[in-house]
Amino acid sequence: MKDRKLLMIPGPVEFTPEVIRAMGMFTTSHVAPDFIEVFGQALERLREVFLCPQGQPFVIAGSGTLAMDIAAANLIEPGDKALVVNTGYFGDRFAAILERYGAEVTQVKAPAIGDAPPLDEVEAALQSGSYKLMTITHVDTSTAVKADVKGLAAVGRRYGALVVVDGVCAVAGEEMRQEEWGIDLALTASQKAICVPPGLALVVAGPRAMEAFRKRQTPVGNYYADWNNWLPIMEAYEARQPSYFGTPPVNLIWALNVSLGQILDEGMEARFARHRRLSRAFKAAVAALGLKQLPLSADKEATTLTAIYYPAGVDRTVLGYIKEAGVIVAGGLHPAIKAQYFRVGHMGVVSAADILTTVGAIEQGLARAGYQFEPGTGLAAAQAVLCESS
Ligand SMILES: *Cc1c(COP(=O)(O)O)cnc(C)c1O
Repeated sequence: MKDRKLLMIPGPVEFTPEVIRAMGMFTTSHVAPDFIEVFGQALERLREVFLCPQGQPFVIAGSGTLAMDIAAANLIEPGDKALVVNTGYFGDRFAAILERYGAEVTQVKAPAIGDAPPLDEVEAALQSGSYKLMTITHVDTSTAVKADVKGLAAVGRRYGALVVVDGVCAVAGEEMRQEEWGIDLALTASQKAICVPPGLALVVAGPRAMEAFRKRQTPVGNYYADWNNWLPIMEAYEARQPSYFGTPPVNLIWALNVSLGQILDEGMEARFARHRRLSRAFKAAVAALGLKQLPLSADKEATTLTAIYYPAGVDRTVLGYIKEAGVIVAGGLHPAIKAQYFRVGHMGVVSAADILTTVGAIEQGLARAGYQFEPGTGLAAAQAVLCESS
């Protein structure tokens, strides 16, 4: 029997064999001509994946939190006002990072867990003060709540705020059109829908963000994150020139270029559509099994992951049973309700077969945990969606 489990968590996700192979290659010099070509190509491809043809991409060793740190360090000067649209755990984190760089942070919080702040409340907040920047978590990984990035970005722009999107659980899965939607900076990490092992912070900054950076009066309060150090490096690699500031993670960047190529081969529109379809199939199964999701309404449900309350009488021991049935899912993350729910990531190279396998394993786990339901109910509901002609 195969003993490798299917990994269905909100990152790291499953990777393609080609990506894994790139990780296992002999490491070249970071200024070897073939690596310079690969790094340059990866930067060009990032613009296409973020749908931001005028953007300046940054690929820097670190996790998604570093990408948030880079955004705050380079765009915030002490005393700047920042507005955080908070839909959960990662909104709290962004507020803390912005404050670390001296921002005066105001938060517009969701009225309840599973909800998002209403657009008019965000607009009222923007109206009441001159904010330099606002942050939006596209998909809050603690609640599986998707923010209305397009609507929020339009409002932010109207009031002159730089729009920053934490897309760590979204970019390359959830529909995001950086330039068209007026997003000034979007960021993610390699291990989520980008489908590369953990270790890369990915940032694409639009022209207004770069201009705000160039107009700074004070030095960037973080040496490693400072774009003054990294911008010449990114420009050099794109110009296919050798360059050095800090040694880039060669194999990860090789893997990134492979994955970005695969993402663009599928095409962004097809990729968004696949995530929508598979998410709909999985959520249909969850509903058919009588389980409740965290997001309070369908328009707030992410397509990259699902957060599900345990039914009465079931707790996190079910996660062990699901694992024994072949699939690894994640526990809760939101501190207020951590023990009451679990999360299933379905982003990246996820397939219809993965969805059915996952629903099957969840059914087996629930049955072992003593939950009463007709086995196959979830599978039938997922299958019904998957069999719809697209
Ligand atoms: C995962 C995640 C992060 C943090 O990324 P790390 O790589 O764990 O540092 C930030 N924001 C969101 C929305 C995430 O899903």
